[in-house]
Amino acid sequence: MRSDYLGHALTPRIGEFIALRRDLHQHPELAFEEHRTSALVTRKLKEWGYTVSTGLGGTGVVGTLRRGSSPRAIGLRADMDALPMTEAPGPAWASRHQGRMHACGHDGHTATLLAAARRIADGVDFDGTLHLIFQPAEEGAGGALRMIADGLFEQHPCDAVYALHNMPGTPAGHFVFRSGPTMASSDNVTLTLRGTGGHGAFPHRTSDCVVAASSIVMALQTIVSRNVDPQQTAVVTVGAFHAGQANNVIPDSARLELSVRALDPQVRVLLRQRIHDLVSMQAESFGVQAEVDWREGYSVLVNDPGETAFATRVAQDLFGPSRVTAQGDPLTASEDFAFMLEKVPGCYLFIGNGEAGTPGACSVHNPGYDFNDDLIEPASAFWAMLVATRLAPKPVSPPARD
Ligand SMILES: [Zn+2]
Ligand SMILES: [Zn+2]
Repeated sequence: MRSDYLGHALTPRIGEFIALRRDLHQHPELAFEEHRTSALVTRKLKEWGYTVSTGLGGTGVVGTLRRGSSPRAIGLRADMDALPMTEAPGPAWASRHQGRMHACGHDGHTATLLAAARRIADGVDFDGTLHLIFQPAEEGAGGALRMIADGLFEQHPCDAVYALHNMPGTPAGHFVFRSGPTMASSDNVTLTLRGTGGHGAFPHRTSDCVVAASSIVMALQTIVSRNVDPQQTAVVTVGAFHAGQANNVIPDSARLELSVRALDPQVRVLLRQRIHDLVSMQAESFGVQAEVDWREGYSVLVNDPGETAFATRVAQDLFGPSRVTAQGDPLTASEDFAFMLEKVPGCYLFIGNGEAGTPGACSVHNPGYDFNDDLIEPASAFWAMLVATRLAPKPVSPPARD
């Protein structure tokens, strides 16, 4: 089985997909603006015999391949969007657009799924339906949710869904799996305080929002240390604190921006309750008004144990156990594939982008980051073997002997 996939006829053509990845890298497109990318994906999938539906989630694309008669169906998902940041000068294929960059490797995920599409169309025998889901707007805008709302799983029902993300700092091509909660929920919260401003010389005639907000920042630190079970993971980060203009003017308002994360839906509920309670009571104690604007972000990403064990075995069979971590650590980053996993069981996995000391170790969302093209070959082989195994034609039973 291993040699079938690793030595597949795609290998001599892998350069085509590296060129494609670099082309996507030069033309990054932001959330819901992936028009060029989705047109390219559509053209390629049609060329290779996929039935293509477009328009789901705006720029989303689904390529479908049916073989045999089995009702089984699975989905493989890649994200297509770039980030609003400027790439550091570097590779010949650097972004041609100021303020737009593929700094999370979604160019690589798209190129890898296209390489898998080609491998599968050319030479993978299976019985069932394969949906290749090319998703817009993973970076904060919730493209997965939009595709689901537009009827992704009604139009393309799946028994299981899978997705992968590159992982800088891990050896190139090393696979990392995790069963259960794997990435955090992420909520965005704005706290607005309103008090009575005044002259800095007469603080007793004001209700000082700077002091109240400072106290709230410190009080928020006690939620993780005193309210959350020490066995659980939670993050409350105050990433922005805006108040005042001059040293001798007490402002009448202050604004705090928070990022709130958890790896368990119950902990997420607890964080929300405690933040509301602490903020309102702290504000009251300082004589200022507080408003909490809670914007729900991505859900906790929970990998299905059965599908994760299956995908882990596929990687172990293909590459050997030494290239596979079966139960990696959870991450407090978030990922909107969580919404797909709330609808359909599946597995979100990682593939190393390069170990420390190599160019592939540069963190995602960094101006110097680049997807490691060496991953396209093993990652697309993994996708192909996963499809061949999950949708393997049922063996014909031998005739009964008398
Ligand atoms: Zn990212
Ligand atoms: Zn990403």
